[in-house]
Amino acid sequence: MAILNYKCPCCGASLTFDGETQNLQCESCGSEFETETLRQLMENEQSAPKSSYDWENYEPRYFKDEGGIDLSGYSCPSCGAEIVGDNNLGATVCPYCGNATIVQGNFEGTYRPDYLIPFKLDKAKAMECFENACKDAPFLPNEFKDKRVIEKMAGVYVPFWAFDCDCDANITYNANRVSTWSDSNYDYVKTDYYKLIRAGKIGFANIPVDASTKTENQYMEGVEPFNYADAVNFNTAYLAGYLADRYDVSVEDSIDRASERVKKSIQSAFAQTTGGYMGVTAEQSSVNVSDGKIRYSLLPVWMLNIKYMDKMYKYVINGQTGKVAGEYPVSKAKRNKFFAIVCGIALAVGVGIAYAFTNFM
Ligand SMILES: [Zn+2]
Ligand SMILES: [Zn+2]
Repeated sequence: MAILNYKCPCCGASLTFDGETQNLQCESCGSEFETETLRQLMENEQSAPKSSYDWENYEPRYFKDEGGIDLSGYSCPSCGAEIVGDNNLGATVCPYCGNATIVQGNFEGTYRPDYLIPFKLDKAKAMECFENACKDAPFLPNEFKDKRVIEKMAGVYVPFWAFDCDCDANITYNANRVSTWSDSNYDYVKTDYYKLIRAGKIGFANIPVDASTKTENQYMEGVEPFNYADAVNFNTAYLAGYLADRYDVSVEDSIDRASERVKKSIQSAFAQTTGGYMGVTAEQSSVNVSDGKIRYSLLPVWMLNIKYMDKMYKYVINGQTGKVAGEYPVSKAKRNKFFAIVCGIALAVGVGIAYAFTNFM
């Protein structure tokens, strides 16, 4: 007799109740289930909660006179960058495009960051890191080794959104275990099917999402990681001698990326608990983000632009670790000279062999 609409979790066929074993059986695939187990399974499926993401509303805060250092706004007529910086920086080149005619102006209406990671490397150390990185680049033009050029690097605080939250998740997996054995007549294969139900909670702090379109992601990703444990509450004093970019990617546009990172992290953490099973596939999952906090934060990098053969080469150096990202040009003159020498040696060897050969004759 068919029992309500209990379907076989393995193959989807209708199940029948077997009076002898008191279990539900599938005539289609031969699976057998305890009635109570199946009832719990159906209950779990029906009560599966929906995902929800509860991030706070971020209200931007503006700079106001806080004492400490005097701030100026700077804008670049060439690339449009708008930056806040120490009033005493004097003549500054644009850290984004290398343009030298950066204009000093007002910084009113600029958003005030909540956190920042302070610079650990001063300019001398950052220059040293760049010089070391250059050692690995073959046929590098001389401009890239000129201290007067390298010295033009600027310390820039780059904006990012930092997301904190708690996350509750429930994930149900389909999985199986296969066992095989043999007797003198047959080989046997037995497949046990499982529903793995996982639930848990993970807290996240400082999930970073890039808040500036001007710093190309490849550079920022190239100098990762940053140590977010060093983040401190923002204070204008940290800006002395440095520039700070302001965000142009809104919180609204960043929230989805933060939510996606939370979801991926929790899914991979849960997946680690399914070892020992085969064919593990997530059937349904719910992710609930609560107490989501959003902070406008700044990351420390040194930026350097070097012009070579009408092209601007851009470098970013992690202000905490000194890791360098950027592309190195090859000096054609240096490379040609190198190949000329190599060919000269080959030619000399060739001539030597020819002589030896002639003498031998
Ligand atoms: Zn079945
Ligand atoms: Zn610029």
